[in-house]
Amino acid sequence: MERLIRGTRELGISLREEHISLFETYYRELIEWNRRFNLTAITDYEAVQVRHFLDSLSCLLALPASCLQVGAQVVDVGTGAGFPGIPLKIVCPHISLTLVEATRKKVVFLEHLIGRLGLEGVRVIHARAEELGRQRAYRERYDWAVARAVAEMPTLVEYLLPLVRVGGSILAQKGESAPAEVHAAEEAIRILGGEVRRLIPVHLHGIAETRYLVIVDKVAATPEKYPRRPGIPSKRPLGITKPQR
Ligand code: SAH
Repeated sequence: MERLIRGTRELGISLREEHISLFETYYRELIEWNRRFNLTAITDYEAVQVRHFLDSLSCLLALPASCLQVGAQVVDVGTGAGFPGIPLKIVCPHISLTLVEATRKKVVFLEHLIGRLGLEGVRVIHARAEELGRQRAYRERYDWAVARAVAEMPTLVEYLLPLVRVGGSILAQKGESAPAEVHAAEEAIRILGGEVRRLIPVHLHGIAETRYLVIVDKVAATPEKYPRRPGIPSKRPLGITKPQR
């Protein structure tokens, strides 16, 4: 776990022995389950440390310790094999974490993994974000909604903003396209009650490209009609008008 240890140190995060051993277990389970279910294309030991674990932990640059205190409500939408939610939970065990994932086999893996890691205060929900955003139990309940590699910004904000309480924020992990995506999502963000706070460029140890953390604050309640039905936010992203033929 040298790469992970060095990388987190560069981000100002210090990992303890018990964190390292949880990440070792996470790696083994991921690889083991990946033989049967297609969970990730990244399987090389060093690549997983950097591209999955370290990249997930880079969210901590935007989530100051005060955000991740006891009981902070965090939802990770489209978590896949648990990124970025599970690495954050390993390092910040006091948060209350909800993992949302639309694919059944990934949900089964996550439930197994949480048991193996002995994590408490994590709930896995097999659903689409658009469905949860319309349910009282989940709508406007979270302090933070996070996501990596799930959808482009205009669609992603319709998944995330309805879940966040006014005063909370969303954090989207993005690549080089972040500034352009945020620009394209300006109208959608305004409609849904958000306000862009900042884009934080991130450089990960051993990775050339710049990554970005996009932070959008929720400043007003999301209108009742959002999110729209499953599939609509990606098919007809808010605020994007189709070019005229
Ligand atoms: N966040 C993970 C997985 C990215 S792949 C990572 O960075 O490694 C995108 C995942 O989001 C897939 O597992 C897919 O099933 C899930 N997903 C896509 N759209 C979704 C939606 N609307 N609601 C819930 N999950 C969704």
